[in-house]
Amino acid sequence: AKQKGRDHFQFYVASIDQEIRDRKQLEKDMAQALSLNQLHLVYQPQINLETKRIIGAEALLRWDHPVRGLVPPDYFIPVAESNGSIVEIGQWVLDQACMQASRWADIGIPLRIAVNLSAVQLRREQIVDDILGTLRRHDIPAGRLELEVTETSFMTNLADAVAKLHSLNRAGISIAVDDFGTGYSSLTYLKKMPVQHLKIDKQFIRDLLINEEDTRIANTIIDLGRSLNLTVVAEGVETAEQEYYLSQRGCKLAQGYFFSKPLRPADFEKFVHEFHQKVTE
Ligand code: C2E
Ligand code: CA
Ligand code: CA
Ligand code: CA
Repeated sequence: AKQKGRDHFQFYVASIDQEIRDRKQLEKDMAQALSLNQLHLVYQPQINLETKRIIGAEALLRWDHPVRGLVPPDYFIPVAESNGSIVEIGQWVLDQACMQASRWADIGIPLRIAVNLSAVQLRREQIVDDILGTLRRHDIPAGRLELEVTETSFMTNLADAVAKLHSLNRAGISIAVDDFGTGYSSLTYLKKMPVQHLKIDKQFIRDLLINEEDTRIANTIIDLGRSLNLTVVAEGVETAEQEYYLSQRGCKLAQGYFFSKPLRPADFEKFVHEFHQKVTE
């Protein structure tokens, strides 16, 4: 039994050791991703369910590594957050998204761009100046930018987060609470935070109309949004049934594969033109 225990122990050490090396390599690869041009953004349209028009797009980060392939952001963003590289990457994302918004305005599609802002970015002292500076550099009106923050952003220092979001908000930038209902939701945050949008997380939309609890949770978020005067956005809408239900129930905005998956800029432009043609026909 003793012998077996030792083997187990060695196996354990070896696998931890491997894990640490894998992680170090991942961090090294990520540190180079920007300079090696391995990052790009894709854009997912956000649709107004009443007017059936595209009102904006969420920018989503993609990392295409020559050997690893497409690395999912759910996997590499937490790593970038823990080693701080999210600060540089996040600024790059903001720059790219603003460049895109400016180009789209030039070709007649003045859409609002939603950018995910990490809690780590929001904690930085210069973040407000950095964001406003980026808008100015690209000559984008602040109303064209939306920042998506998660509830974790409010946790470490509520007063600090409130102050920064207020400054951004006063400048004209709108704020959305992302993944609403999945984190440490507190109605205190909603009361104190200058937010305009609530995003129903896709985990509640996936089994909408199939799972009774999920349907009730979605209903509750929609009602909460209405009573607090916040626009509700459903993410992960994949079926016509979900789209119909949400629009009847009073959810104003939606995004998901039912409309379109996140697209490269050229495909996104094509999609916008075709979508609006179809609707007006
Ligand atoms: P998120 O902000 O909640 O983004 C929504 C995710 O749902 C995206 O995954 C999107 O591609 C996916 N999605 C959209 N429509 C559907 C649908 O109909 N069905 C399903 N099953 N999924 C759908 P993605 O692109 O893999 O991003 C994952 C997460 O990574 C994001 O979740 C966000 O938290 C983070 N992320 C992505 N880009 C950035 C970024 O630039 N900065 C930061 N800080 N985080 C980012
Ligand atoms: Ca988001
Ligand atoms: Ca989400
Ligand atoms: Ca998320």
